[in-house]
Amino acid sequence: MFKIQNYINGQMIAPTEGRYLDNYEPATGKVYSLIPHSGKQDIDLAVKAARKAFPYWSSLKNTERSAWLQKISETIDKKLASLAAAESKDNGKPLKLATKVDIPRARDNFGFYASAIKHFASESHQTSEGVINYTLRQAIGVAACISPWNLPLYLFSWKIAPALAAGNTVVAKPSEVTPMTAYLLAEICMEIGLPAGVLNIVHGLGAEAGNELVSNDDIDMVSFTGGTQTGERIAKIIAPKFKKMSLELGGKNPNIIFDDCDFENALKTTMHSSFANQGQICLCGSRIYIQRGIYKKFRDAFVEKTKRRIVGPPQNENSQMGAIVSKAHYDKILSYIELAKEEGGSVLAGGKSLSLGGEHAEGWFIAPTIIEGLDEACRTNQEEIFGPVVTIQPFDTEEEAVALANSTSYGLAATIWTESLSKAHRVSHQLHSGIVWVNCWLLRDLRTPFGGVKNSGVGREGGWEALHFFTEPKNICIKFDE
Ligand code: NAD
Repeated sequence: MFKIQNYINGQMIAPTEGRYLDNYEPATGKVYSLIPHSGKQDIDLAVKAARKAFPYWSSLKNTERSAWLQKISETIDKKLASLAAAESKDNGKPLKLATKVDIPRARDNFGFYASAIKHFASESHQTSEGVINYTLRQAIGVAACISPWNLPLYLFSWKIAPALAAGNTVVAKPSEVTPMTAYLLAEICMEIGLPAGVLNIVHGLGAEAGNELVSNDDIDMVSFTGGTQTGERIAKIIAPKFKKMSLELGGKNPNIIFDDCDFENALKTTMHSSFANQGQICLCGSRIYIQRGIYKKFRDAFVEKTKRRIVGPPQNENSQMGAIVSKAHYDKILSYIELAKEEGGSVLAGGKSLSLGGEHAEGWFIAPTIIEGLDEACRTNQEEIFGPVVTIQPFDTEEEAVALANSTSYGLAATIWTESLSKAHRVSHQLHSGIVWVNCWLLRDLRTPFGGVKNSGVGREGGWEALHFFTEPKNICIKFDE
């Protein structure tokens, strides 16, 4: 069976203790490769290699680091088809989605920061005649980058690219659930001859390799994307050491649909914002609030479309949804559907697992599910399910919509549908949310701040925000004789 390797100090190497974990193909439920089950020794090696490479890498000109990132971006582009196939197989997502979204975005993340670092500038402040301040923004050292399984290469590269662009070296740990494209990225780095130790990729379990990485005293900062509970664990380790951390965590995003919306556009986009990537995008709108005047019409149309949504083998051109990423996550989603029923919810669509038969008979497929009749306080509406499950609920007034939207401990993203410009602004300003989309969803400009409030995280990624995170500002104040 194919064995993924760690990428440390420019080499592919086996885990020091020779232990491996099974890697599953979600669409078949079968093991198809093995992942290093790394531990402390592997993490120590990787951090040492990154530390050693730091003086060289941070001393390169921005244009030189930019050229390396550009090479990675171009090589991802050349291999787009094979990377997309690997991502789809490893994660269960439709090949079409990996081809159109995941891999192009990974390519663009490197391309974006290859360009951004050339334009990055720092501030200067004139205090008075004869007194000038200027701010240096310097690379910090070794960045630990940890990412989740839902958008594997996309989110992995979203951290690595700005960290490297800013002049840091990196030890990165992809999710053990979807390690394949991180391994293929390591192959690309070897192929283009990226200097040894600049990027190191270590595979393994979160509680072991991940925990060893964030606990290592020789890392300087942590950029983490994943669940809120994991973020809390990491913060407990990092905060007392006063190291920088950026935490991009869970969400329970509201999708607010007002009477005066563009109905067809809201309906079409709500299909995507509910079920894209099997609902496993941190930005998916899982709580749908519909104003009373159009509630019944919208609900009926939404239910009908959802029932027609095609769940199928990820490789099939016409599959709109693929498999759930792991057996554990599949069980978790199904248990939430049961909980929703216990809490008094009515299942209007889906509500069950699907068996596709043939080679996919053991795959982890769940029908897109709509639940009605729950109030905002129940666990189904408070806890992150992170699957193809949404709740719908009517509201009457703008105030009520805002209160419902703000009623969870999360605050990542929100969507608003209205043709009223004033209402769109008014509501956007009142939402407890790091990101608000009006009459659209997942429209991303890589320059904009990305992140959440409340239990959805600390800090922002994207654009200059990421370059600020991955650099340390130092103010230099100079008085000179006039
Ligand atoms: P997770 O928290 O279980 O794992 C994320 C990563 O952290 C993995 O690489 C894992 O191995 C590692 N990890 C786990 N325990 C660790 C520990 N103790 N120390 C160090 N590392 C550890 O999350 P997941 O299940 O992979 O991903 C789903 C979650 O990610 C959802 O909550 C989702 O909302 C969130 N997410 C957030 C964003 C965002 O931008 N805010 C984006 C995507 C996903």
